[in-house]
Amino acid sequence: MSWDFSTEPEFQAHLDWIREFRREQIEPLDLLYPQLAYHPLDGDLRALVESLKQQVKDRGLWAAHLGPELGGQGFGQLKLGLINEILGGSNFAPIVFGTAAPDTGNAEIIAHYGTEAQKEKYLKPLLEGECFSCFSMTEPHAGADPKLFTTRAVRDGDEWVINGRKYYSSNARTSQFVIVMAVSNPDVSAYKGMSMFLIPSDTPGIEIERHIGMLGEPAGDGMHALIHYNNVRIPAENLLGGEGMAFQISQTRLGGGRVHHAMRSVGVCQRALDMMCERVLSRSTQGTILADKQMVQSDIAESYAQLEMFRLLVLKTAWQIDQYHDYGRVKKDISAIKFLMPKVLLDIVYRSMHAHGALGVSNEMPFDEMWKYAATMAVVDGPTEVHKVVVAKEVLKDYSPASGEWPSQFLPDRREWARQVLAERLEHAVANNS
Ligand SMILES: Cc1cc2nc3c(=O)[nH]c(=O)nc-3n(C[C@H](O)[C@H](O)[C@H](O)COP(=O)(O)OP(=O)(O)OC[C@H]3O[C@@H](n4cnc5c(N)ncnc54)[C@H](O)[C@@H]3O)c2cc1C
Repeated sequence: MSWDFSTEPEFQAHLDWIREFRREQIEPLDLLYPQLAYHPLDGDLRALVESLKQQVKDRGLWAAHLGPELGGQGFGQLKLGLINEILGGSNFAPIVFGTAAPDTGNAEIIAHYGTEAQKEKYLKPLLEGECFSCFSMTEPHAGADPKLFTTRAVRDGDEWVINGRKYYSSNARTSQFVIVMAVSNPDVSAYKGMSMFLIPSDTPGIEIERHIGMLGEPAGDGMHALIHYNNVRIPAENLLGGEGMAFQISQTRLGGGRVHHAMRSVGVCQRALDMMCERVLSRSTQGTILADKQMVQSDIAESYAQLEMFRLLVLKTAWQIDQYHDYGRVKKDISAIKFLMPKVLLDIVYRSMHAHGALGVSNEMPFDEMWKYAATMAVVDGPTEVHKVVVAKEVLKDYSPASGEWPSQFLPDRREWARQVLAERLEHAVANNS
């Protein structure tokens, strides 16, 4: 048996390097090119990012989420968690380290379910950081409930023909290919009647109706697309996995994605807490520094404890994935960290922002991005309510109804039981002593 919360010195050296590298080399890009992280790189920015990527590769830290067979390091999820905590909250860090969503999840499912030809065409450039990809599942009228999806894939000879509309397809504008989830057999349950397709983004019939931005971004522009798939024809070999396997594939993809978001969120929370602590030690009012006010101390204590609890569950979840290599087996804790994440983020970011007073709600501190990130994490990859349902169902699997009229912990029954047990023991003790 071993319960060990320490990090081995060799890996700690990597983490120290990553932290320093992020601070000194990557944050300048975040500060001066905040919107450009997920755009195709050109000119000076390309040269800057490529040189950083090379340093990460030289250090043996590129694509830390992947096994060695796919050009990654095979660190496993626990070590990835420690890395992602540092990369979290930086727009460019996941790009520079080859761990950016949605490409990580897309790479994972092509690696898992793709044919050799698909891996060569789609996975290889993705892993080399040479292209962006897009995952196109949500529809304008349906997100959290995939049973409502209506985008259709119809087999026509050696081709599939896709028709429908997809909403919030991130990075569609910069992607070289999209992975589309569509109903291929409407006569069976959605869990068996949907399939996934790999489609080059320049295929005729892929029509971007508009680009949707996040809160605060200018209207009519953004990284998330409303796409009309208008008679999009693709060869039969573009089917990913088998026919009817989309639901299973999407769970593989979303399982990993949710854990990676949670890992990065730990880093965002830590940054907010660091900012709060610095601020309350620096600012005075009514005769003392803020740090000496008990209500401020309460906020710091709550934030610290919430973050530690969340972080430990994230790392335990990562550890379980390393043990079992099966997201299904860990789904209770994956869903638990998924719904805890926005709550912990919102609480800690809000307290930190509040401790900064007017400065906190100004555009001269980074709370705007953190606040939006927290709200987004409550929706992306399934809303909080859905994950709470998953956790509750999984927890309840270990229980059964009380066998009699009263709960098993009903005190009158328990006392009666205790009396019987002790009477029997007493009888034995007396018999043994006589
Ligand atoms: C930043 C961002 C990036 C995204 N990127 C992609 C992408 O690349 N590809 C893609 O396909 N999709 C993407 N999405 C979409 C995302 O997957 C969906 O937003 C998500 O699945 C929820 O669907 P919805 O927005 O339609 O919400 P709905 O399903 O309409 O849910 C709305 C609200 O209803 C409530 N609710 C829903 N279900 C239940 C329930 N069972 N019980 C109780 N209450 C419930 C919740 O409060 C929920 O927030 C992205 C979303 C965001 C915010």
